[in-house]
Amino acid sequence: MNYTKILEEIKEEVAPLIGKGKVANYIPALASVPNNKYGIAITTINGNCYTVGDAEEEFSIQSISKVFTFAMAFKSIGEKLWQRVGKEPSGNPFNSLVQLEKENGIPRNPFINAGALVVTDSLIHNNFNPKKSILDFIRKLSGNQQINYNTEIARSENEYGHRNYALAHFMKSYNNIYSEPDELLDVYFHQCSLSMSCVDLSKAVLFLANHGVVPNTDEIILTTSQAKRTNSLMMTCGMYDASGDFAFRVGIPGKSGVGGGIIAVIPGELGICVWSPELDEFGNSLTGVKTLELFTTKTGVSIF
Ligand code: GLN
Repeated sequence: MNYTKILEEIKEEVAPLIGKGKVANYIPALASVPNNKYGIAITTINGNCYTVGDAEEEFSIQSISKVFTFAMAFKSIGEKLWQRVGKEPSGNPFNSLVQLEKENGIPRNPFINAGALVVTDSLIHNNFNPKKSILDFIRKLSGNQQINYNTEIARSENEYGHRNYALAHFMKSYNNIYSEPDELLDVYFHQCSLSMSCVDLSKAVLFLANHGVVPNTDEIILTTSQAKRTNSLMMTCGMYDASGDFAFRVGIPGKSGVGGGIIAVIPGELGICVWSPELDEFGNSLTGVKTLELFTTKTGVSIF
């Protein structure tokens, strides 16, 4: 497969879409990212990396971090995690509060904000230093020791984070958050603020394309079953209430963030990350989704 040629073709085909979405503007540090940034990186499980555009440039990974904290929690807590968070698509926006009351403070899945807060809370509960362990985990997976939190973004998220505070306090009233909301939100805003490139992320997600094992070190991150389940969750819940559309158009497990990144995996083959900051109405990268649709169409790969 000539990935370089395919990536270049896609970059050209999606160019007219730039300008049709909206860069996240709920905090100044995200609003100031140039809308025309665009990169793709693919890393195959046998170690080849293919890129196009701004694939080496760092951006704010935001909700993509939910996959990594989930993997950490699933590894250490296992099936008990499902007592506190569900595994159904929400059909609601990522930061919605409405379902939580009807469902007694148990979030629908780990990839909406409420669910990710429960996951991060479980890391705090099981670990003395979650900020350090999240960073160590990400650095190990991507093989890049330079990756760091963007403290300016984390601070700004905190300043404008009233809805996330509301979610945490609300769930705490149902005894589904154990730590103090201030401490929890500090860790959560830091995980969202991680700065990574498409290359870093295409490597970091690779264990999910390889039955839970990091290909070049053979380190087992998740069991085969856990990796399969994580991919199922990405497939059904990774793009919020546009998950069905993404499954229909793209047909592989993926996870988006409001920084404009999307990670996705083709099990047995590769990890891919695309970055384009303009979002659609669901908070997913507009050009990013189209990029992945073209990628699976042109390569003919899909999990179906
Ligand atoms: N930091 C953002 C929030 O919690 C992340 C949202 C996202 O990427 N969808 O609102």
